[in-house]
Amino acid sequence: MSQKQWVYLFNEIQKVEKNLNNDWDSVRGLLGGKGANLGEMVRIGLPVPPGFVVSTEACIRYQEKQQFPEGQWEQMLECLNKVEKDTGKKFGSAKNPLLVSCRSGAKFSMPGMMDTVLNIGLNDETAKSMIKLTNNERFVYDSYRRLIQMFGSVVLEIPDEDFEKHLDGVKQVRGYKLDTEMTSTDLLGLIEVYKKVILEKKGFEFPQDTLEQLKLATEAVFKSWNGKRAVDYRRATNIPDDLGTAVVIQTMVFGNMGEDSGTGVAFTRDPATGENKMYGDYLLNAQGEDVVAGIRNTEKIEHLGKDLPEANQQFLEIVKKLELHYRDMQDVEFTVEHGKLWMLQCRNGKRTALANVKIAIDLANEGLISREEAVMRVTSADVDTLLHPQFSAEDKKKAKNEGRYYASGVNASPGAAVGQVYFDADTAEHRTKEFGEATIMVRPFTKPDDVHGMLAAKGILTSEGGATSHAAVVARQFGVPCIVGASMVKIDQEKREMNVNGVVVKEGEWVSIDGSTGEAFVGKLNLTTPKFEEQIDLLNLLNWADQISATEGIRTSPEGWPSTGLQVWANADYPKDAERARTYGAVGIGLCRTEHMFFEPERLPIVQRMILAKTSEERTAALNVLLPYQRKDFEGLFEAMNGFPVIIRLIDPPLHEFLPTAEELQAKIIALRLSGAGLSSFVMGHGELKEATELDLMLDAVNALHESNPMMGLRGVRLSIAMPEIVEMQVRAIFEAAANIANKGMTPKPEVMIPLTGHVNELKWVQPRLERIAKAVMDEKKVQFHYKFGTMIEIPRATVTAAEIAEVAEFFSFGTNDLTQMTFGYSRDDAERNFLVTYIDQGILPKNPFQTLDQDGVGKLMEIAVREGRKQRTSLEVGICGEHGGDPDSIEFCHRVGNNYVSCSPFRVPIARLAAAQAAVKNRVK
Ligand code: PEP
Ligand code: MG
Repeated sequence: MSQKQWVYLFNEIQKVEKNLNNDWDSVRGLLGGKGANLGEMVRIGLPVPPGFVVSTEACIRYQEKQQFPEGQWEQMLECLNKVEKDTGKKFGSAKNPLLVSCRSGAKFSMPGMMDTVLNIGLNDETAKSMIKLTNNERFVYDSYRRLIQMFGSVVLEIPDEDFEKHLDGVKQVRGYKLDTEMTSTDLLGLIEVYKKVILEKKGFEFPQDTLEQLKLATEAVFKSWNGKRAVDYRRATNIPDDLGTAVVIQTMVFGNMGEDSGTGVAFTRDPATGENKMYGDYLLNAQGEDVVAGIRNTEKIEHLGKDLPEANQQFLEIVKKLELHYRDMQDVEFTVEHGKLWMLQCRNGKRTALANVKIAIDLANEGLISREEAVMRVTSADVDTLLHPQFSAEDKKKAKNEGRYYASGVNASPGAAVGQVYFDADTAEHRTKEFGEATIMVRPFTKPDDVHGMLAAKGILTSEGGATSHAAVVARQFGVPCIVGASMVKIDQEKREMNVNGVVVKEGEWVSIDGSTGEAFVGKLNLTTPKFEEQIDLLNLLNWADQISATEGIRTSPEGWPSTGLQVWANADYPKDAERARTYGAVGIGLCRTEHMFFEPERLPIVQRMILAKTSEERTAALNVLLPYQRKDFEGLFEAMNGFPVIIRLIDPPLHEFLPTAEELQAKIIALRLSGAGLSSFVMGHGELKEATELDLMLDAVNALHESNPMMGLRGVRLSIAMPEIVEMQVRAIFEAAANIANKGMTPKPEVMIPLTGHVNELKWVQPRLERIAKAVMDEKKVQFHYKFGTMIEIPRATVTAAEIAEVAEFFSFGTNDLTQMTFGYSRDDAERNFLVTYIDQGILPKNPFQTLDQDGVGKLMEIAVREGRKQRTSLEVGICGEHGGDPDSIEFCHRVGNNYVSCSPFRVPIARLAAAQAAVKNRVK
């Protein structure tokens, strides 16, 4: 049996792809994103330093026994041998030594989360021969000290500071500002000091055996897969733990060979705005990590042509080719060694939400991708971010006039944030989690160890680093507003304060940062939400999404079932919500909770009078006062939704919700009786104060209405049957409003929804009475329009008897808040507070079922209801109006189940439009 292959040369990519059924995703899974893309660059003929990849499978096996799987090391040696042949150099040889880098590369990029060691292959001997070969002592000593430092910190786990402090010491003594000012003598001295650090800390020497260096570095990369920062990152990004990382071993090329050499990172389009303009930094005479670490001040990529014209020309051609090849914005790393360009990495570039939308639209307009692909590339999180708060121009101007402008830096990740300043990641995380504070993390620069603080903070500010520094890349990815390189900010970690020209901000004080412009202010600025109507790219993208959803035949279904994708409707109680819903693209109202209108200050006393009424006449009198209010509300809704359906739900909550609690009433009554007025009235023989008597009556009513389980009590359709006068008034108000609107030449489409049906007989009792009123109003007003009567499906019994219910109901709307509550038997008001968090922590439930639909339980009931309901009535309209209607996963489920629409809060309508289109594409009929 031939031995399992653990190690692959870059130029084996074709074979790997073929073995994996030409599935590129599997190639990335096996070789990691970096390894796969290096192979791909070799395949399309780009200049890539030769190398090989140790697979993720080897990493997974390594984790089992903490040792390389059988055959891996031998295969690495064979590949090394081939690389030696390719380059004409020899690893560990004093003659013409080959140096390699050893880098991590998982399937999904985890920037800076795992380890890298450069310059492997240098030792005292090879260093000497490199000096002879390159005639560049400074370069060789610089490379050697970097190897010892990286090997010491990454492989031997000695804190980086133990090396860095010596480097800083040399710079300080000699009065240097930059690392590049160090001479070869300085560097040679550092090498000796670094070797001593290793001996002191570890009790053994830095290994001179170059194969030992390679072996230990590979192991260190494997181990870093389970390092704390990598694990934290995976948790935050939902990357599975069992993927493992590949290790890329590649011939070193050197950007630190002098002024005709350099290194850089670049994005083919602006990752902050999406503008089609190259964006990045480079440094002459430097190695890769100098650019990314943000330690030296970098040059903008557009100036590369001035320093290295030929390499720049070739670079521009290559990145163009890469964008066309991958049909996406690329993030590339390159090195120029003595004028020769080498590509070290390319991958789809991380970007802001704003940039993602713009790039998707532009790529589709440029013909590189289809509109459908553009829609699939944008995530619901992107849309969410774009609807997030910002500072208004006026507020910023005002703050500037007040002298609160503080500092500026690179606008690394857009969006605005207001919070209290903390100067390290642990404190930022602690203050956020323990005290619920809004925090802004301020650091000179960030490292991968700071990610937990960056995730917890509302915003990030650094005084050093550029647009591709660690802080910038990570913040963009997580949508955290961020400013980097605000160099006027002097941070004093000891005093826990920062200072700009004498203006001191101490830890815990408030600042406001604008990551879109790079400006920071002292104190708090108001956050405002950007106008959706002004976001042209997003509007275009969502229009494309709607077109996809509206495609006939994208869903096949039995007769009468929807054959397009889902429509998106909104839950809106007031005309202004309905207007917003229309602006956001909703094409119907799926739920108007009428009782919300009862709570308005001038209406509540009338509602209470209606509840306290002793007779039907008294109740009707109070309801007659309410009717004009309701009619006006509904007119506003029909007007805002002219031509679109509006589902109005009849009163649902238990009546006690409109009354004060018994405790509140008792306290008031006692206070009144003990007050001067109360006592004197009693003494004067006037009897009780009128007010106290009324409160007594109300207390009696509250006591009479008391239920042990009000959510399962007198509410919904039960209340309509117990007190039909209320819903009779509501239906009259709905139809009078619709008639008035129709008489004005508009097209109202009322749909009356009866809540909480559990038995068809409930509908049979109430619905005909209400329909009679509807018809009577239309006759009175001499106008006819289309209307429907239907029900919410929110009780498990209703789902399993849906066929019977659909005999009466013309539409179903899943009230999944109640349906989840009643299916699980969890109180929706208490479960989250009491035990759901523990359930999710302990893995008893995968997600909070009140946020993401429980497809296996609640979802099954929904499936039954749709199937049974449509068996009875093929044209049955089905929607959802519980909170799940705005959740992308639940939306996809609703698509599969056969809903006509989902309805959610107006603010979530844009996300739902995207999710509906994506569901249609993912589940398209083949
Ligand atoms: C529901 O139960 O899902 C619903 C929309 O109704 P409410 O939240 O008002 O009970
Ligand atoms: Mg409900």
